[in-house]
Amino acid sequence: MPEIEVRTHQAAMPPAAPAKKKRPKELAVVNQSACTGCEVCLEFCPVDCIYVIAGPEHDPRKKLVEIDLDVCIGCKLCVKYCPWETISMIPTDKAFDVAREWTQTTVLPEKEWMQRENAEVGKFFPTVFYGKKPEL
Ligand code: SF4
Ligand code: SF4
Repeated sequence: MPEIEVRTHQAAMPPAAPAKKKRPKELAVVNQSACTGCEVCLEFCPVDCIYVIAGPEHDPRKKLVEIDLDVCIGCKLCVKYCPWETISMIPTDKAFDVAREWTQTTVLPEKEWMQRENAEVGKFFPTVFYGKKPEL
């Protein structure tokens, strides 16, 4: 069986994007307890701010996603296309608190808004697109 390549987030994460000066009214937040790791949302995000990460205890068979709220433009496409309805648009002033609450595993521990004591620091999966991104 081919081995799944799991890279550490330090090696694989893109450079941190600066926080946007003007944020959208709502941001997309994933409820990781219901996320199946199906990766459908990735195909639709126009700014590639959704990361695929190893799930609880870094089990590579269970994947989750996490959204970088500093980069999300609030377009709602991930919400529209998630087959499992696990992403919600949350008013921006509450989104960071909700993200902390709904996050089990994070690859953004250096973000001030993601710092919570009991969040597992996960490993970043290389993103694999199986086809061309849909034209929007
Ligand atoms: S709302 Fe849009 S920009 Fe934000 S994570 Fe979803 S698809 Fe990406
Ligand atoms: S589409 Fe929904 S269930 Fe699938 S990885 Fe994205 S958030 Fe998780």
